Amino acid sequence: MLYPSPASVSRALYERATQFLPGGNTRTTVYMKPYPIYVARGAGSRIWDVDGDERIDCINNFTAQIHGHAHPVINEAVRKQLELGTCFGLPTEAEIDLAELLCGRVRSVQAMRFTNSGTEAVMMAMKAARAFTGRPKIAKVEGAYHGSYDYAEVSLDPSPANWGADPSSIPYAQGTPQTVLQDVVVLPFNNPEAARRLVLAHRDTLAAIVVDPMPNRAGLVPASAEYIQALRAVADEIGALLIFDEVISFRLGHGGAQPLWGVEADLTTFGKIIGGGFPVGAVGGRRDVMAVFDPSGGKPVLPHGGTFSANPVSMRAGIAALQLLDHAAFTRLAAMGDRLRAGINAAFARHGVEGQAVGMGSLLKVHLTAREVVDYRTALPHPAEAHALATFMLGLLNRGVFAASYGLMALSTPMTEADIDHVIGAADEAIGDVAR
Ligand code: PLP
Repeated sequence: MLYPSPASVSRALYERATQFLPGGNTRTTVYMKPYPIYVARGAGSRIWDVDGDERIDCINNFTAQIHGHAHPVINEAVRKQLELGTCFGLPTEAEIDLAELLCGRVRSVQAMRFTNSGTEAVMMAMKAARAFTGRPKIAKVEGAYHGSYDYAEVSLDPSPANWGADPSSIPYAQGTPQTVLQDVVVLPFNNPEAARRLVLAHRDTLAAIVVDPMPNRAGLVPASAEYIQALRAVADEIGALLIFDEVISFRLGHGGAQPLWGVEADLTTFGKIIGGGFPVGAVGGRRDVMAVFDPSGGKPVLPHGGTFSANPVSMRAGIAALQLLDHAAFTRLAAMGDRLRAGINAAFARHGVEGQAVGMGSLLKVHLTAREVVDYRTALPHPAEAHALATFMLGLLNRGVFAASYGLMALSTPMTEADIDHVIGAADEAIGDVAR
């Protein structure tokens, strides 16, 4: 059935949902106009909606489902745990197993704590940095998304109308306290000199610099090596911590992003793929910093709980998911990503449409512009580009490909070369729609 359709079961569900759920569901990111598509089930690289339409899932729950849907090995691990109980007011061996696995993969992570989401992981990392350094401020990249902790949300969507002003003064949501805005320093992405200057201006009050090395909302272009090195160096110079937000970028390689950029962070945040499709987050890093969480000597510097934190279902699913991700899996995912980017870029050239597919490894983003995308401002679509992107995304959707409305795609291990061919073919025709 073509989307949107007056006869759609999704439309009927949406109408029912709006009585109980503002916007018809629980996540702003999954809202679509005129109605979101409600999913009935998923298997491998495919999802089926409530109208019975099958699509290749190219968003994979916003990058989390790196093994697609209902992976038999993950399902088996979860099933075993279900029989043993799902969560307790005591720790389980499962959290040791996952922590050991992650610490073994990321050299800078010597100890860790689990949370229920990436948002909480970032929140705990920022709090840990403040507790460890005794300083109040956090620096973050303009436009970069790190979840919905107030401090992480500052400067999430400035626009040309206000970005001449200090982006730190721009709240994302109404209700952001003024004190939060005062305690966040906003750095331009991929501009080492400007970032260094801004950090030095807050040298005595900055607890941490948080950076995602390939921030989706700042264009999904990789940070330059010089930029990451400059952040590492200036953090060391002023005694602040460098926090790598790897909630998404951990899917770039066996050890995540840090080996790829040749850097070691003081703290790293995780989420998404490390839960194997179940709710999860984690913060890990230097043993001396992580000691702020340690209650063994009395009241910890930073208390941290969470009723469902480290629940063994998420832990066992995460372990199974990571064990499936050997070096060969990342190589294959990256090769599929390269082929998809090349295929989409060739289609833009063939149709004479201004556009580009950027990203790295299994992560890809389509911009409907020929301008060089280097940061949030150059990535933000102009109105005509936003219209063209909407046409492109609708074209994909109605040719059996589901991706995020803003052009993000994240591949999964059950995808086949034939799936990639299908997505390239659908993109080619969708770009044809834009050209018309
Ligand atoms: N950090 C980054 C880089 C993210 O992309 C996200 C979510 O998309 C988060 C943090 C927040 O994670 P969660 O949605 O699990 O709270």
